[in-house]
Amino acid sequence: MASLGMKGLFNLTSREIDSQVTKTSPGNYALGRVSENKFYVYYVGRSDTDLNGRLKDWVDEYDKFRFSYAASPKAAFKKECQNYHDFGETDKLDNKQHPQRPDDSNWKCPVCDIFN
Ligand SMILES: [Zn+2]
Repeated sequence: MASLGMKGLFNLTSREIDSQVTKTSPGNYALGRVSENKFYVYYVGRSDTDLNGRLKDWVDEYDKFRFSYAASPKAAFKKECQNYHDFGETDKLDNKQHPQRPDDSNWKCPVCDIFN
């Protein structure tokens, strides 16, 4: 079964984000809701610079989040791609498109050939 490889579950509130995501760092997150004690992933994303700030853009949109820090923006990108494919792409997720890479990068998705 696919794994997010993230910490959590946390409530998606500014206060909880500040108490859990204390480093200014690139990282990954998953947003969703809990039903019958199971966490359902609705959206996966990343920040290349500030995971805490990015998560706050989503307050009120979803109920819960999970997150992990990333060692670099590139590592965050690769993990986001993996999460995106593992959790059903645009068919099942609210994500509208494949994760994007910075315009000046030549990063490749570790799963598909969209950037080849
Ligand atoms: Zn891909």
